Amino acid sequence: MPTRLSPFILATAAKCIGCRACELACSAAHMQGGVSVGSLSGPLSPRLYLMRVGDICVPVGCRHCEDAPCAAVCPNAAIYRTENDGVQVDENRCVGCKTCLMACPMGAMEIAQIWKHGKPAMRRVVDPSNPEDLQFEPALLASKCDLCRGREAGPACVQACPEKALDLVDPVKIKKRRNLEAALALSGAGARAGGEI
Ligand code: SF4
Ligand code: SF4
Repeated sequence: MPTRLSPFILATAAKCIGCRACELACSAAHMQGGVSVGSLSGPLSPRLYLMRVGDICVPVGCRHCEDAPCAAVCPNAAIYRTENDGVQVDENRCVGCKTCLMACPMGAMEIAQIWKHGKPAMRRVVDPSNPEDLQFEPALLASKCDLCRGREAGPACVQACPEKALDLVDPVKIKKRRNLEAALALSGAGARAGGEI
């Protein structure tokens, strides 16, 4: 079991202008077929969701919980935690039962159309007009932020946000920085450094 704290994407509501560039960039990144925001053709399947409450808007997504409730309840062991990429869904094991959707405290899990190489992933079902036969239909499976695992430039939403309202946060680095700041403040060095700036 990984022991490192998982990274996650942090949104700052005070900066967000609700333009949805993050949702578009996320959808394009997960179609995986060389699709850009301008050439999106299928339905949008973002993995973070812009929420509006009064005048405030902010995207909400997976926090990559250390004790991930979605992983704990999945009857098919389709959700797992990794050392560097947080909580991931194995789409080959998912059957779309929605148990994880009920367990997620952030509302980050969705059951949605999954894309593979620019095409909808398909599943085999019994043909209702001929029960002896099977037919293919688009697969609706567990879908959530995967931190754009494998994407060289990092999470697409962070890159696309024009207001720099999204950050990929590494809790280990943040803690080290806070400890350093506290140590400098306690020693008085922080105050001196602050005075010089
Ligand atoms: S929808 Fe998929 S990932 Fe979620 S609990 Fe069911 S099998 Fe597991
Ligand atoms: S791209 Fe940035 S500013 Fe636009 S909705 Fe997303 S977080 Fe808000």
